[in-house]
Amino acid sequence: MRMKTDVYDRTKDTQELVFPGTQLAVTEEFLGGSGTYSTDRFIFASVIGNVVIDVEKHEISVVPKPKSAVIPKNGDIFVGSVVNASRQMVTVAIYFINNSEINPTFTLVIHVSQVSKEYLETVDEGIRFGDIIRGKIIDAKTIPLQGSLIGSQLGVVLASCSICGGKLDKIGRDRLKCVQCNQTERRKTTIDYGTSHLQFKL
Ligand SMILES: [Zn+2]
Repeated sequence: MRMKTDVYDRTKDTQELVFPGTQLAVTEEFLGGSGTYSTDRFIFASVIGNVVIDVEKHEISVVPKPKSAVIPKNGDIFVGSVVNASRQMVTVAIYFINNSEINPTFTLVIHVSQVSKEYLETVDEGIRFGDIIRGKIIDAKTIPLQGSLIGSQLGVVLASCSICGGKLDKIGRDRLKCVQCNQTERRKTTIDYGTSHLQFKL
């Protein structure tokens, strides 16, 4: 069996990571197994994955790379945005868990008692619709998940003005001021509010 040596045409190695459409081998030398498709002359990968060569059967296949399935756990740190807010609770769409982007997203709720160590009568004293927040999952067993913003690294990381939509700058502990209309608002902010560091040091 003559192996091609050209970097583009060569037969792919076992365990090599390939993408759909990558040429794997020529049909005179191999049979295409699962995760491949063939033309008259060539065998191509049809999935993202690792090459497996069965020497005895002269078969080349691609084993799909498993998607990183994230199962939320208690204590995980999430980043998300507030998609709904009532007096006592906000609903959050989660985009990152422990710094890994997740897809599809999870939905999480935060009760007013979990927004701040301090007593808040209503949720909007600490967090509002549209805010980008970093929080912790405190109950991963329920649907939706339950979260908390209590902790100095947790809270609102970015917010916009409720009046004009302008950027809110931090002017004091949990106090923000709109750069456009001077409206001041309260949020339970993270210690790094406004730095756009959505990621979290684990
Ligand atoms: Zn404003």
